[in-house]
Amino acid sequence: MNTMLWTVDAKGDLSTNYPQITQAARLLQQNETVAFPTETVYGLGANAKSTEAVAKIYEAKGRPSDNPLIVHIADIQQLEEFAEVDSSQASALMERFWPGPLTLVLPCKQGVLSTRVTAGLDTVAVRMPDHPVALALIKEAGVPVAAPSANVSGKPSPTKAAHVIHDLNGRIAGIVDGGPTGVGVESTVVSCTGDIPVILRPGGVTKEQLEAAAGTVLIDQGITDEEKAPLSPGMKYTHYAPEAPLAIVNGTSEEIQRLIGQYQKDGMKVGVLTTEERAGAYRADAVRICGRRDRLETVAAGLYDALRSFDEEKLDYIFAESFPEEGVGRAVMNRLLKAAGHRVIEV
Ligand code: AMP
Ligand code: MG
Repeated sequence: MNTMLWTVDAKGDLSTNYPQITQAARLLQQNETVAFPTETVYGLGANAKSTEAVAKIYEAKGRPSDNPLIVHIADIQQLEEFAEVDSSQASALMERFWPGPLTLVLPCKQGVLSTRVTAGLDTVAVRMPDHPVALALIKEAGVPVAAPSANVSGKPSPTKAAHVIHDLNGRIAGIVDGGPTGVGVESTVVSCTGDIPVILRPGGVTKEQLEAAAGTVLIDQGITDEEKAPLSPGMKYTHYAPEAPLAIVNGTSEEIQRLIGQYQKDGMKVGVLTTEERAGAYRADAVRICGRRDRLETVAAGLYDALRSFDEEKLDYIFAESFPEEGVGRAVMNRLLKAAGHRVIEV
């Protein structure tokens, strides 16, 4: 398949980009797949009403069919067509965080969306992205757009069009390049189907921010407790992993450097995932900076690009620093733990 590539200036006047967005929207209407930027990561979109279209997402990504998709909308009218909003917390969260990096799981109206979007569940995950290109594309397509991250299943999510091209060129109909994404980790997923909202996946919007808007919010214990099954189907899969095995180290940079030295002595090629503050402490075969430790949002923004860049080095092992589990640090540690297959070294 020939993959169309359009470049749009996300910061510019979108009317000048209109031809590209119209062409991309046409492909969505024809039940083809199109990758596009959002404020979190690049999404791989398809018409959520069409089983033919949605099947192409699962096929291109190699995504397990029991992992449901997030439906992206451009305005609230679109939501009423396929979801019920019968909780006051859901309304408060939408009001406060949409458009933005928050996905709500709501009761699903039957017969509107393809059942492949929800993997047969009676709930649907939905969000309104805070990105002018994404909003313009969904509006122009005129249909709700199912869109998981635009990567091969299991790989780190794409934060640049180059990542999408690397993973999916030739396997999807088009890519809209709107430059690098902002938040860098996926949306927070919150279930609003019970009395109290439950975080199913930590992300761009923090627990503290959610509680300020909607009162008490719980965290699914299955996210952090390896013994418990997560409530969200997708959370059980290995994800975000570079090719070389990765371990998170709870220790100082001196202790991590000692580990690197030991592995190198055994003939291994070793990488380290670090921050601007600590990068100077390492003599590894690949030193990758994901952001600044004193500004965890920069770590979220740079995490996937840094993880992906290790693959160019053909390493035998990667050590990653750990981060405080507060604010967006919760999402960062959740993704790192999955990338590491939960290998954590205490030194
Ligand atoms: P992704 O599209 O890769 O960002 O992943 C979407 C996440 O939302 C996955 O973890 C899914 O399992 C989760 N999700 C989607 N729909 C539902 C739903 N109806 N109930 C619970 N989790 C969902
Ligand atoms: Mg994903």
